[in-house]
Amino acid sequence: MEYPNWDLPEGLGELLGQRFEDLKEERGYDYFEVATTQQSKVGGYPGWTQPPNWPDCTDCGTRMEHLLSITATEPGTGRWLPLDDRDPRQDEAAVPSWQAEADPAVLDTFGHGMDLGDLGGMYFFVCRICPHTPYTHRFDC
Ligand SMILES: [Zn+2]
Repeated sequence: MEYPNWDLPEGLGELLGQRFEDLKEERGYDYFEVATTQQSKVGGYPGWTQPPNWPDCTDCGTRMEHLLSITATEPGTGRWLPLDDRDPRQDEAAVPSWQAEADPAVLDTFGHGMDLGDLGGMYFFVCRICPHTPYTHRFDC
């Protein structure tokens, strides 16, 4: 599997890639299944659809912090699902939350109904170092 170029120090990308391969082989989970939440959220890490595009603060040069993401879709499986949204026929102790399937009765209530291009999202970032908390955004599809 090929992993995005995250602009890491030399050799680190290969090391992480090997560890992701080992994780997949040993546990059956792909990096994208366990490393980030793929839907709309506040905080955490963006679930980039394309290679990451972290902004640096134009005032102080520090990499900005992820504030929130608004994604185009809210999938019914392959993401973190609240217990109330899970299919009650699944054994919640045996199925990891990122592999749980949504309750068909609530699946139509997921999402915001906005068209954000394709399957990407809007990612908002803030710099908490600068006193006027500058912000910016990125978009992918
Ligand atoms: Zn700043």
